[in-house]
Amino acid sequence: METIQLQRQLISFATDVVRLAIWLLVLMAVFVPLERLFAVHSQKVFRKSFLADLAYYFLTGLLPKMLLIVPTALIARCLHYAVPDDLHLWVADLPLWARLAAAWVVGELGFYWGHRWMHQIPLLWRFHAIHHSAEEIDWLVNTRAHPFDIVFVRLCGFVPMYALGLAQPMLGKTVDVVPLIIMLVATLWGFLTHSNLRWQFGWLGLLISTPAFHHWHHTNDEHTNKNYASMLPFLDRLFGTWYMPRKQWPSKYGIDAPVASGLTDQLLDPLLPRGENARVPTAQAVD
Ligand SMILES: [Zn+2]
Ligand SMILES: [Zn+2]
Repeated sequence: METIQLQRQLISFATDVVRLAIWLLVLMAVFVPLERLFAVHSQKVFRKSFLADLAYYFLTGLLPKMLLIVPTALIARCLHYAVPDDLHLWVADLPLWARLAAAWVVGELGFYWGHRWMHQIPLLWRFHAIHHSAEEIDWLVNTRAHPFDIVFVRLCGFVPMYALGLAQPMLGKTVDVVPLIIMLVATLWGFLTHSNLRWQFGWLGLLISTPAFHHWHHTNDEHTNKNYASMLPFLDRLFGTWYMPRKQWPSKYGIDAPVASGLTDQLLDPLLPRGENARVPTAQAVD
C-alpha cells in the first residue's frame, strides 16, 4: 500500500517537473526574442546568476506548492468559522466571473500587504532580499525568491479569499478553478513585469502593472519601497506607495547589502540567527 502511495507521489513529482520544463521552453521562446527586440537595458541572455535563477525556477515551482497544502487548509478552515454563514451562502451563489473578479481584488489586496510586510519587517526582509539582490532584471528574475518568501505572500493572498468563501483550498481531488486561474495569470504576469521590455502600455498602465511599474520596485536609489502590487497599481495609489515617472527607467537595480553568491547559502542564510552570518541583509529603510 505504502509502495503504491510512494509511486503515485513520484509520478506526480515527475509530472510537475516535466510540466515546468515545458513552460520554461515556452517562456524562453516568448521572452528571449522579445527582450532582444524591445530591450530597456542592453544585457546578455546568459547573464550572471542565470543558472542560479534557473534552479530557482524549478525550486519555486515545486516546493511552495507542497509546503502550502497543510497551512492553507488549516488557516482557511479556522477563518471559515469566523465569517458569517450568510456571507458564504451569498458568495456561493455568485456566477463564476463575479467570484473570480472579487477573488482577484481580495487576493491582490492580501498580496500587496504581504509584500509590503516583506519589506518592512526585518525578519521577513531577510528572505525577500534574495529577490531584490538581482542587479540585472529580466523575465527569469520572477523566479528568484526564497521558498518561504513565496509561501508567505501566497498565504497573504489566498487566505482572505478562502476566508470569504471566494475560493476553496486545493485539497486532494477537489479542484476549485478560481485559485488555479488566479495563480496562473498572476505567475505569467510576473514574468512579463520582470521582463527587460520597454513596454509602458499607455493609459492601460494606470489599470494594470507593467514592466516599468515593477522595475521601479527593484530600483536601488532613493525611490525604494514603492510599487508593491502584483497586477493592480491602484492599490499603491490607495496606500501611498505608487511611483511611476513618465518614460524613465531605473539606472541601478539590486540592494547595497551583500547577499550570498551560492544558491545553497542563499537558501540557508535567512534561517540562521542574526549576527552569526554577516551576509544577511538588514531591512530597507521605509519612509
Ligand atoms: Zn519586493
Ligand atoms: Zn520582482
